[in-house]
Amino acid sequence: MTTVGILGGGQLARMLALAGAPLGLRFLVMDQAADACAAQFVPMLKADYTDEAALAEFASRVDVVTFDFENVPAQSAQWLAGKVPVFPSPRALAVAQDRLAEKSLFNDLGIATPRFSAVASRPDLDRALSEIGAPCILKTRRLGYDGKGQFRLASSDDADAAWEALGGQAETVGLILEGFVAFQRELSVVAVRARDGSFRAWPLTQNWHAKGILSASLAPADASPALIDQALSHARAVADELDYVGVFALELFERDGELLANEMAPRVHNSGHWTIEGAECSQFENHLRAVLGLPLGSCDARGRACMLNWVGELPDARAALAVAGVHWHDYGKSPREGRKVGHATAVAENARGLESQLIALGQALGREKQVSGVVAALG
Ligand code: ATP
Ligand code: MG
Ligand code: MG
Repeated sequence: MTTVGILGGGQLARMLALAGAPLGLRFLVMDQAADACAAQFVPMLKADYTDEAALAEFASRVDVVTFDFENVPAQSAQWLAGKVPVFPSPRALAVAQDRLAEKSLFNDLGIATPRFSAVASRPDLDRALSEIGAPCILKTRRLGYDGKGQFRLASSDDADAAWEALGGQAETVGLILEGFVAFQRELSVVAVRARDGSFRAWPLTQNWHAKGILSASLAPADASPALIDQALSHARAVADELDYVGVFALELFERDGELLANEMAPRVHNSGHWTIEGAECSQFENHLRAVLGLPLGSCDARGRACMLNWVGELPDARAALAVAGVHWHDYGKSPREGRKVGHATAVAENARGLESQLIALGQALGREKQVSGVVAALG
């Protein structure tokens, strides 16, 4: 009996456990929150990620450790790696946790990014602003997610307000100023690399955000073979350089046919949730296969899929399930503004079928606006 330890007990851990059950796997999650949603059906060790006694107990009860949450302190991951195999490696985690380190790595590998500069102080913000120009975004280097820890500057007049909002974090988590990219669309590569270095990627996914939070994903995205090749080779270069093991996502902006890398997520990713029903092997199953040293499954799509995120509260499941081809995921979380509480995935044989499903789903749930971008992209 193999037990997989997961640091973080949110919906990603929950979906990993769901994918692992048919493989005969057991799970143990570690989380700081008593109400972590994976704990509804997975044993949980509730403890601080820096609590050494808890980490020792966790390590003693599992065969391998992986992450649902990328902001686990790198020292804790490193400490665990001395006791039990940890995938992805603490080094990969450390790079992906830090926007400055990940963007520098991308540039070193010849992958274009938005312009960026580390910001250490208020005068340094002025220096970075003159270097990068407005519009731009001040972001925390670490700990940000779902657009949190970001301040958009329309012009240099916003520097004081930006510093007011985030300056207090310059010394704790660090800050980075990034040029604002007027992209045509957002894409992501969700890929998996095995312990033996073999690499597979799911078809390119197109993403829509609302208020900095992922709202919809469409896969496979419509893209030229050249663009797909470029996106996949970027993902592979990053994975090989980090000797990465497991699933990760590379978020990209497409601007005038060029790809700029925004960030990488060292874990299964929201833009890969469509793979549960829309691909031969899901990101969750392939992540488990990778960290356990099992052969990888096929990343081929089964037709065309669209995932819609439910943020804040769940719409009416019954109305959604009445639309053929729609699959429902309720994370068992209590509703709260800005919180991801579930998602739905529509899968069809082709674009036309998916388009009609999405129009029906949008109407059934009163979510016409949320599906509109995807419907337009399919049209
Ligand atoms: P995630 O939940 O994806 O981890 P995050 O908090 O790490 O989000 P980002 O991915 O950096 O934040 O930003 C969230 C969204 O804000 C992006 O998907 C994009 O829509 C927008 N955004 C971020 N950086 C830029 C940029 N430099 N130019 C234009 N838009 C941007
Ligand atoms: Mg992020
Ligand atoms: Mg992001």
